[in-house]
Amino acid sequence: MEKFDLTVIGGGPAGYPAAIRAAQHGACVALVEKEILGGTCLNWGCIPTKTLIAASNLFHRVRHAAELGLKIGKSDFDYEAISGRKDEVVSKLRTGVSQLLKANGVKVLAGTASFTSRNRIRVKSRTDSRQLVTDKVIIATGAEPVMPNALPRDKRIVDSRGFLGLAELPETMIVMGGGIIGCEFACMAAQLGVEVTVAEILDDITIALDTDIRRELRRHMEKSLHIRVLTGHPLTGIRAGKKGVSGRHGSERLTTQLLLVSTGRRPVTAGLSLGKAGLEPTESGAIEIDNFCRTAASTIYAAGDATEGSTQLAHAATSQGITAAENACCTNRVAAETLIPACIFTSPEIGSVGLGEDKAKADGLRVISGKFPFAGLGRAAASGEKAGFVKWIADAETEQLLGAHAIGAHATELVAEAAVAIRAELTAEELARTVHCHPTFSEAWMEAAHAVRGECIHSPPKRRR
Ligand SMILES: Cc1cc2nc3c(=O)[nH]c(=O)nc-3n(C[C@H](O)[C@H](O)[C@H](O)COP(=O)(O)OP(=O)(O)OC[C@H]3O[C@@H](n4cnc5c(N)ncnc54)[C@H](O)[C@@H]3O)c2cc1C
Repeated sequence: MEKFDLTVIGGGPAGYPAAIRAAQHGACVALVEKEILGGTCLNWGCIPTKTLIAASNLFHRVRHAAELGLKIGKSDFDYEAISGRKDEVVSKLRTGVSQLLKANGVKVLAGTASFTSRNRIRVKSRTDSRQLVTDKVIIATGAEPVMPNALPRDKRIVDSRGFLGLAELPETMIVMGGGIIGCEFACMAAQLGVEVTVAEILDDITIALDTDIRRELRRHMEKSLHIRVLTGHPLTGIRAGKKGVSGRHGSERLTTQLLLVSTGRRPVTAGLSLGKAGLEPTESGAIEIDNFCRTAASTIYAAGDATEGSTQLAHAATSQGITAAENACCTNRVAAETLIPACIFTSPEIGSVGLGEDKAKADGLRVISGKFPFAGLGRAAASGEKAGFVKWIADAETEQLLGAHAIGAHATELVAEAAVAIRAELTAEELARTVHCHPTFSEAWMEAAHAVRGECIHSPPKRRR
């Protein structure tokens, strides 16, 4: 029977970096993957969607190129080619993951892993079944889309993975669920000319975001991308008939060519036989971990979307995977990072980190905020990307920066600076005195930090009464 110091179950953004970090620390490591390396993020999540979004964003800009004085003529696209490029990008990156694992001496085993005891794992493939013995285990089995049982099984009703396999775009589409993934798909498809309706059960889309940001996103989706955003009712009575897929939202009957179901994701732990390892998942199937990514079983760690309270973001999964590997292989314990920035590739983009203003106030914290609109930036005016703003949340007494939210061009890149500033416990004054290049979008953070202190140079002072 093969023996390993550490076995990682799952080759996604939590699992493969964990395996590499453990190997870097000298451990003999196996990684078991039941589908393909890279997990959801690389194969059916972050990378393929952002490849489609890159094409869709460029197409949208080209169609508005006259605003910059360009005469481009009739613009069109070939979705088959866009989708083919997506597959190429994914495949190249997947090869890179495989090479990295090989170069670090990680043994990759193809098959589905399940526990037979705390330190024994069965790996079953179509052709083979083997057992391995392992000192430590990291569970990194991720999450999968939830498809409500009541929905008819029909090829015009797809989840995010199904959408990415489409050979052509529909003319009309309903997105069931106005969360982050649903809104990213909605914006991407609308920019490519699809008539999109978002049907959300809650009172607003992307409900977890800061209210100002949410309001701006919805306004842009409705006004600039002509997406119908319907909120406050469930989509019910869904049928797939000759004329398409239909359903009811409140009092309105909707019909569409394609229904994209984006109603959440659940942890993939059902087939792991966790009980044999002495573990019991939560009701939703998630695995509980502590700050060091340890489970209730002392030699078993877990990371990523399969864990309770996961942010369901790839970089959070990677950070936890690395922490789990370091704690499994070394004597010095490291705590998992808790400051997790979020990036949302809607149109406009969103970046967010730390405390939201609503949450801070609901928790009774005394906070102040400072906002700066992109319209006040020379760079945004020059590049014709004036929509959006950035916003700092700071402690009212110390002015320590606690949260940052950005919506507009490059917001998913801009959020990195804010994360560093918050992690370094900078105050608004320290950030405001940090010289930023001109003309750039990042100047908005400096201006907004000045605004926290009522000293913004490039926006007029608030009127005194
Ligand atoms: C459409 C979409 C867009 C997204 N966009 C972004 C984005 O832009 N940015 C971002 O940060 N996040 C994004 N995410 C979320 C991101 O993909 C996940 O947070 C991330 O993939 C989680 O990593 P993970 O390693 O925990 O799980 P996964 O990536 O799901 O990997 C788990 C792996 O474990 C394998 N596995 C499961 N069970 C077993 C078993 N028993 N034996 C062996 N192998 C097993 C699976 O096959 C899979 O490969 C997106 C997700 C979706 C669906």
